[in-house]
Amino acid sequence: METRQTYASAARTIIDRCELLATFSEIPGQITRRFATQPMRQMHEVISNWLRAAGMVVEVDAIGNLIGRYEANKPNAKTLLLGSHLDSVRDAGKYDGLLGVMVALSCLERLHQSNIRLPFAIELLGFADEEGLRYQSVYMGSKAITGAFAPDQLTLQDEDGITIAEALRAFGCNPDPTNFSVSRWSPRELLGYCEVHIEQGPILEERDMPLAVVNSIVGQQRLLFQFHGEQGHAGTLPMNLRHDALCAASEFILAVEQLAGSVEGLVATVGQLEVQPGASNVVPGQVQLSLDIRHEDNTRRAKCASQLHVVAKNICARRGIALNCQLVQDSPTVFCAQNLVQRWQEALIAEGYPAPLLASGAGHDAVVISTLTEMSMLFVRCTGGISHHPSEAVREEDVEAAVAALERFLLLTAKEVEIEPV
Ligand SMILES: [Zn+2]
Repeated sequence: METRQTYASAARTIIDRCELLATFSEIPGQITRRFATQPMRQMHEVISNWLRAAGMVVEVDAIGNLIGRYEANKPNAKTLLLGSHLDSVRDAGKYDGLLGVMVALSCLERLHQSNIRLPFAIELLGFADEEGLRYQSVYMGSKAITGAFAPDQLTLQDEDGITIAEALRAFGCNPDPTNFSVSRWSPRELLGYCEVHIEQGPILEERDMPLAVVNSIVGQQRLLFQFHGEQGHAGTLPMNLRHDALCAASEFILAVEQLAGSVEGLVATVGQLEVQPGASNVVPGQVQLSLDIRHEDNTRRAKCASQLHVVAKNICARRGIALNCQLVQDSPTVFCAQNLVQRWQEALIAEGYPAPLLASGAGHDAVVISTLTEMSMLFVRCTGGISHHPSEAVREEDVEAAVAALERFLLLTAKEVEIEPV
């Protein structure tokens, strides 16, 4: 339908738009855009104008998701969902979330300009809260879409004491609890969900490829370990009589690194460490640390987690230290729908790009949407694999590839829908 040249100019527009949208921030000079804030509201206005100009009807739902609907060429057609998130982490980059919304918008703009309606409707979702920065929440936007948002959360307060309900009202939404009780669609009305997102990792760059089709979003376990040793005087307590909690924890941390390095596909991280009493002249009595462990294979991940628990027990037994271990979070791996994965691969190959499969180590709204409909994701290479950082960057030719791939994906979907028996 379109030439390379117009894909290139679409990519330029997308990057310019991401630059412009980066200015909607709560903190001047950096990008920090939390759920239901004034800069988010202002950004909605700008994006809404683009959506309307692309032939969409725009609304904001009860949780503050921005939704643009592009009607089908026939009545009673099913709906394909596209989208990503509009909120950011603190001091964020320009492309996490927004790139996916802008690539989808670009494809819809081009359809509209060519007067093309497809045999299915498209809803473009700009999720209100993926990063959870304001309320330490998880996926409030997509949960509200699927009917999984718990209205008792409306009373949660941010650091200024503003509840979610108050924030939503100020944002122009109606946070009546009944507005969250049902999903926006029933699964049979939907054709699936597709999210374009930067990779947030270095693998595509390492392989010198612009795009990857995501085959799963990797499950994770978060555990909390407490090492109870014996506090003592750093000058008078002889080494052979010590039960140093930090030495035990240190031995454990290195064992975590060693195991993760020896199991293909496993990543394990100790990211938080609290030492008590935390004085230079006191032998540490207590240490608490976090363990984040991820592997695509649920059984393998659980096995590695319990293996590490045994390692910690052995270290503690040898050092005369008591151990406590608590499971904080356990999310299984979510697999992308095989038919959508294949369609993405077909689209990439048809556009002349390699179509590698990649597991997503990071979580996404797609995890929540998978409870409602089939989901899929397309990753776009990002420079140095850097994300959640102001220096987040994409190459223009990779954005061009993403636009070409999504457009081809939509046309392949149209073909599928047309041959589907009614
Ligand atoms: Zn993101």
